[in-house]
Amino acid sequence: VVTISQEELVARLPAPRLLVGGQWTAESEGGRFTKRNPANGCAIAEIPLAGPSDVDVAVDAAVSAFPGWRDWPTDARRNVLFRISQLLSEHADEFGLMASLESGLPRVSTAGMAHLAAEYFLYYGGWVDKLGGEVVPIYPGQAFDYTRPEPYGVVGVIIPWNGPTVSLGQTVAPALAAGNCVVLKPSELAPFTSLRFAGLCEQAGLPPGVLNVIIGGAPAGEALVAHIGVDKVSFTGGVETGKRVQEVAARNLTPVTLELGGKSANLVFADADLDRVFTLAIFGGAIGAAGQGCVCPTRLLVERSVYEQAIERILEIANAVQPGDPTDPDVYMGPVITEAACERILEVVSKAVDDGAGELLTGGHRLGGDLADGYYVATTIFGNVDNHSDLAQREIFGPVLAVASFDDEDEAVSLANDTRYGLAGYVNTTDLRRAHHVAARLEAGYIGVNGMPIVPPAAPFGGTKDSGYGRQGGRAGLMEFVRVKNIFMEGV
Ligand code: NAD
Repeated sequence: VVTISQEELVARLPAPRLLVGGQWTAESEGGRFTKRNPANGCAIAEIPLAGPSDVDVAVDAAVSAFPGWRDWPTDARRNVLFRISQLLSEHADEFGLMASLESGLPRVSTAGMAHLAAEYFLYYGGWVDKLGGEVVPIYPGQAFDYTRPEPYGVVGVIIPWNGPTVSLGQTVAPALAAGNCVVLKPSELAPFTSLRFAGLCEQAGLPPGVLNVIIGGAPAGEALVAHIGVDKVSFTGGVETGKRVQEVAARNLTPVTLELGGKSANLVFADADLDRVFTLAIFGGAIGAAGQGCVCPTRLLVERSVYEQAIERILEIANAVQPGDPTDPDVYMGPVITEAACERILEVVSKAVDDGAGELLTGGHRLGGDLADGYYVATTIFGNVDNHSDLAQREIFGPVLAVASFDDEDEAVSLANDTRYGLAGYVNTTDLRRAHHVAARLEAGYIGVNGMPIVPPAAPFGGTKDSGYGRQGGRAGLMEFVRVKNIFMEGV
């Protein structure tokens, strides 16, 4: 792993274009967006944004490609997914660097992302020749009854800017495996990984029109969701956007899968492996992705007897980790995504201080010096946080950790569940009974016991409550992209 200059990195980026029906084009009707490097604020590309007419053309291309792709021989469809997987693995370093440049996440976080996406393509490629229906024993009367899982047709896939490489594996892989065509709308804040991915899909032999990529913001996303030619929407993003997506999709009764935000509680009992757990808590909650991950454990709830020990250890780590350029392999903490995000996070922090939501123990300011031109917020830790405050209730999507204490298991579970979110939850204890008991009681879709999972392809991932519904990963993640037809043949 070597450090590469920004000029060289920018020169290696794929040209910002749209891919529609196998044609790459820089012509679009949604205007232009200046993409900046979050590490230094410099403009790195002018991105052509899709407008509603570009969305129409992309959906038409997918509609035309669908019958051919649906009827492709099963083994050929399986093999093309396997080739995409292979190419993702071969280009994993390139994807890691690209993701660090566009999203500001450090290389330690991005290095494995293309490998993980590759695993999703292998996993779902493996399903292509195993996805069958069932013969149903029928009564009353006599009939031969069987089911056929069928693709929806055209799937609109909308993904956020944080970790798009992994999102591609979680969404595009099962959608294609099931025989759908895809119109993918990545965020304008992180378009390059999706464009490079589309190039690899072409190289792997995916037919034109099966995957179309339109870069854009809210107008393009909304036009895609509203399009009558779209048969299913897979949305990953924030809660408010997700609610809007569901509203718009309802007009055509288009089914949606919603993978939304979180404010996940990390419960630490006094019998846990404390040093390891506190280290993971601060890296996962505030440092690693600067708190910009849907499953980040941003509420740390600690048993009262070890609360002081927790604060001492996480402050020690927070003050030792020096943020820097995320493309540098020795850097563990990068910037947040935009100037606006930086300002928003600092406002939340100052309101929390004014409201007395907790004690500000460190951070709460923007970083200066060499990092002043980038969007860097210091690791920020609040202690004794009131669980009813905005600080505890709201997804901040920045390096802000809220710490509080509890007296017993019941209080721990009740604090953890007292939120509108329900994406992930974490339990740290060496007591096996308690681990299972608490995991069962947490109102969240994905629970980590004594560790933080990396969303493995075979396991179903998704939320409850305001964190959305539907699953990515596993068989459940594949079933999001098929509808089940029943065939009843009388008198057989
Ligand atoms: P966002 O909701 O602002 O945007 C997500 C995507 O939706 C982007 O592509 C955006 O352009 C598009 N969009 C915006 N407005 C739209 C509209 N009206 N109609 C259709 N599409 C629209 O979120 P973000 O800032 O890009 O990402 C951060 C959020 O995503 C956080 O809340 C995070 O927790 C969540 N997230 C969830 C998961 C998960 O799997 N549950 C994974 C990653 C991120």
